[in-house]
This record gives sequence, C-alpha cells and structure tokens, in this order.
Amino acid sequence: MEKASKIYIAGHRGMVGSAIYRKLQKEGFTNIITRVSADLDLRNQQDVADFFAQEKPEYVFLAAAKVGGIVANNTYRADFLYENLQIQNNVIHSSYVNGVKKLMFLGSSCIYPKLAPQPLKEEYLLTGLLEETNEPYAIAKIAGIKMCDAYRAQYGCNYISVMPTNLYGYNDNYHPQNSHVLPALIRRFHEAKEQGFETVTIWGTGTPKREFLFADDLAEACYFLMKTYDAPGLINIGTGEDLSIKDLALLIKKIIGYTGEIKFDTSKSDGTPRKLMDVSKLHDKGWKHTIELEDGIRLAYHDFLVNENTRIA
Ligand code: GDP
Repeated sequence: MEKASKIYIAGHRGMVGSAIYRKLQKEGFTNIITRVSADLDLRNQQDVADFFAQEKPEYVFLAAAKVGGIVANNTYRADFLYENLQIQNNVIHSSYVNGVKKLMFLGSSCIYPKLAPQPLKEEYLLTGLLEETNEPYAIAKIAGIKMCDAYRAQYGCNYISVMPTNLYGYNDNYHPQNSHVLPALIRRFHEAKEQGFETVTIWGTGTPKREFLFADDLAEACYFLMKTYDAPGLINIGTGEDLSIKDLALLIKKIIGYTGEIKFDTSKSDGTPRKLMDVSKLHDKGWKHTIELEDGIRLAYHDFLVNENTRIA
C-alpha cells in the first residue's frame, strides 16, 4: 500500500472500521474513501456494483457487518444471516470485478465449533457444531472466509480473512439488551452507581470465559496484516488471554467504583463456555497487542462518559 493508494473502509462508522480509519490517518494515508449507510446500502447489489465501478478502490477493509451480543444474535437470526451475506457477497464480488489489489475480510471467533479445544486454532474451523445462539452470524462469517478462499483459488485474488476475538473500544454499542457483555456491563455498573442501586445483575452463571481486545489494537493488527500477510484460510487476532465473566464484572465494578452487590440471572444463556484464541500464528508473524484489559476498559469507560449525552441507545 502506498500512502496515496485508494483505500475503501466498509463500515467506517462502526467500532472496528473507525479504529482502522484512525490508524490509516495516523500512518499518513491520503486517499481513504468511505460512505455512510444512508448513501450506500451495502446490502444492495446494484448500489455496491455502481459504487465500486465509479470509485475503483485499490484496497478494501471489509469491516461492515450487522453485529451484536448474544441476545441480538439469537433474536434477529434472519437479519444476521441475510444482511451479513448480502454485505460480504456484494463487497467481495465487486472487489473482484473491479480489480481490487487486496481485500481484508473481518470475521469473528464465533466461527469456531462450540466445543472446540481451547485455545482455538485456525485449523478447527468446520470441525464441529456451532453455538446455537449465534449460528446464523457464524454461518455468514464462514461463508465470507470461503468466499475469499474461493476467489483466491479460482481468480488469484489476494483476499485475506482475519478472525478477531471479542472486541471493545471507542464507538462501541452500549444498548442495554443488544450489546456485547463488556459495554453492557460498563453501562449497567455506571447506571447502578449513579442511581444508587443495591445490586447489578449479570446474565448467565458468570463462569463462561472470554477474551477481549481493544479495537485500536485490532486496527494495528489489521494494518500490519494488510501489509505483510498473503495466504488462504484465516488468521486469529486476539490477546491469547481470557477471564471469566464474573472476573470481568468484578474488574469493571472496581474501575467504575460501584460498591453494591453482583447477582447472576441464570435464566439467561451462557453461550459458548470458552472462546480463547490461539494467537501463535499472529505472534509468529511478529504482532502482539499493547493495550491491556484494565487500561482498555478505563479508555472505553471514559469514551462512554464523554459520549453519554449524545448516545442514542
Ligand atoms: P458471546 O461472546 O457471543 O457469547 O457474546 P456476549 O458478549 O453477548 O456474551 C458473553 C457472555 O457474557 C455470555 O456468557 C453472556 O451470557 C454473558 N453476559 C453477562 N451479562 C451480560 C450482558 O449484560 N450482556 C451480554 N451481551 N452478555 C452478558
């Protein structure tokens, strides 16, 4: 990538896309193109085809997707499958038609089988049944990986797939029901502290374990891999460290300074028992995260407070 290369970031308003945008700006790229969804509906095949024919981007970061936490994934099953397939099919195929030099597809750790051995190695893809709550999303993401591989195999396209672990950071979604656990708990502990609630309720048993990566670290990894990585299949991006949901809750409680009790609502689903990425492939390539969880949560909480009055959810 040259500093003047034309780079399209699909999903630049989202947490991941906006982090990639900031990273490219910091690196001095001068020709980054973006579209808000009101101007370009990535689910619409013709609109995407027209956009690519007109703009002819050279590099594409495909960070646009319909995303959400365990309840959103399970509730909007049709939307998660349909919208994600549409978006990625349109962007990947139009990239091929218009000669994009390199494309990065962003997936998710939920593509791995529910009961796969831990930590999750890239080769475990399609070796077992998926977690039921997010199966539609996972199927769409697996299709995206296979799209990239198929276009590479048949047409020689340099398309790569990266699988980030659970993410958090600036511009996260703090919706009380539809968000992921980390932002959901930031909001819940903050509101409990502000309003003097005696208890905060955590979904599930608190025993599932999850790994969390700050989105700006992900953007660093994406930039690094966009420059250096060229291979079929997938590569994990994470920290290689996880903790239980209960320990996450205790950490967020401490950072926010909430002094009440924590309760567990076991009528809510736990989802996958554990989802820890094996990041040896990424480490061997020479990249490692720099933002540790406690520091990252402090940054995210600050961002949450700064944007509190303008938040829609
Ligand atoms: P997952 O990694 O795909 O399962 O997505 P989530 O981030 O939504 O959930 C991770 C874990 O946190 C699951 O075991 C949830 O049951 C648990 N959890 C606890 N409290 C919450 C909450 O308030 N919101 C969400 N989304 N998950 C929660």
